[in-house]
Amino acid sequence: MKIALIAHDKKKNEIIELAKKYREVLAGHELFATGTTGTLIMGETGLPIHRMKSGPLGGDQQIGAMLANGELDLIIFLRDPLTAQPHEPDVSALLRLCDVQRIPLATNASSATIMLEAMRNQIYFQ
Ligand code: PGA
Repeated sequence: MKIALIAHDKKKNEIIELAKKYREVLAGHELFATGTTGTLIMGETGLPIHRMKSGPLGGDQQIGAMLANGELDLIIFLRDPLTAQPHEPDVSALLRLCDVQRIPLATNASSATIMLEAMRNQIYFQ
């Protein structure tokens, strides 16, 4: 599958912990990420990741364009619901496109864990 990983700044530690815990699961898939999230996960896990621009600089929109083109199969986007984001319109658009395309989307670590456990157990979503 083609999987996108994104985390707002206060959720970066959580996505790194998930990526470390499920490294062997993620290693079997093609990974994409917004700029900073991708750099951090690559540094911590060594996983190869296609990196877009940083989220506030258009990375969310780049991921959204991939969604619109049917080029992604699953999104883990750990959002920070307690901090205003300068690129909130881009975030909303990305979440909306997941629903348009019926792409599985996890917006917090608990949901992401269920998805990653399902992937570990070869239970797929589509
Ligand atoms: P970042 O972008 O990975 O470049 O920090 C994430 C976001 O804020 O959408």
